[in-house]
Amino acid sequence: MNWKLVHTLNRISRYLSPASFSNELHRALRRGKKDGGLTNINFSFTNLCSVDCIFCPQDRGGSKKIRSMSKQLLEKILNECSSAAFKKHHSIQVISVGENGDIFLHKECIDFLRMIRKKMPGAKIQCYTNFRMFTTDKIDIVLKEKLLDFIGCNIDGVTPQSYRMVKRADFDVVTKHLFYFLKKRRELWRDVPIHVSGLTFHDYIKGIYYGLGAMPLKLKETPIDINSLVDDFPDIHAFFRSRLDHPKDKIMRSSPIGWAERNQVDIRGLDYSKYFCPQVDRFQKEAFISPDGTWYACCWDGKNELVLGNVTAQSLNDIYFGQRRKDLILALKQKKFSEVGGPCLSVNCCQKLSIEKKG
Ligand code: SF4
Ligand code: SF4
Repeated sequence: MNWKLVHTLNRISRYLSPASFSNELHRALRRGKKDGGLTNINFSFTNLCSVDCIFCPQDRGGSKKIRSMSKQLLEKILNECSSAAFKKHHSIQVISVGENGDIFLHKECIDFLRMIRKKMPGAKIQCYTNFRMFTTDKIDIVLKEKLLDFIGCNIDGVTPQSYRMVKRADFDVVTKHLFYFLKKRRELWRDVPIHVSGLTFHDYIKGIYYGLGAMPLKLKETPIDINSLVDDFPDIHAFFRSRLDHPKDKIMRSSPIGWAERNQVDIRGLDYSKYFCPQVDRFQKEAFISPDGTWYACCWDGKNELVLGNVTAQSLNDIYFGQRRKDLILALKQKKFSEVGGPCLSVNCCQKLSIEKKG
């Protein structure tokens, strides 16, 4: 398999496409400008998920009634993104799907990907999935029709037992789909790199225990001896090293953060000057859209409390240039976390946690 050749041909065809050329032109014209506009849109087409990771908040999605995005809403957003008025200010380079839920649980997921590809042909489509519902029939369509450009997934253990301990789901189902994807990618010569991240049971427990002084909320009833935990990330690495074959495929260790533990940390007396918002740069150039159209500020805001507006009734441009967004960016940069409220009150849960005992 000559991936170099596949990659080069793919790049050439991208550069020859008028949509990509126009996208690059818009980007170049805005380079150096103080306000570079939006570059990424992250869609949560559904906030449902069929696995239950120990590092994912129990109340993810909050109390929202609408759990899946409608076709009309996606159409409205894409129409705006491809309009001249929008392109004057923004150049969307990346559209991410699979934010805050699994896109492949949405009944119209394939149609949604087709709509994005058609309306935004110059943008790269990235997908984050756990592969459980990315079934062989969907993989066939996605690869044949070139609907995705990149896949990110978390595989947090490589035995049925270690995988279940983190994700409470079947390793065999996930690997069946993942291996099918890799086989089809080779057969069809599709230039779709995949990044596998591993946040192991060992790393998550130790990170939360040493970093936040607690045991994970989802494991409160499970007796755990922290000293007997074994680091199995090398097993994940060894398992995938021989199986992944695209030059841009990667296997990475994920650092734990505590966004799933916000409900148990005591924030009284927290010295906010010691912390920073690690997402503020993304916040400035990316939009996060939930199934009901809420533009929320941050992907670690599981309940979507930091609301900038709603694209059902407003335009992306109105929200982007609105005072609320400007105020929020400034407050986060100035570390006014108690004023911002919501998930930012526990900004200590947004920091990468060390898996080593301090001192
Ligand atoms: S982290 Fe992702 S895969 Fe895991 S439960 Fe949450 S939404 Fe699902
Ligand atoms: S401080 Fe607030 S905006 Fe920043 S990463 Fe944490 S939850 Fe997100």
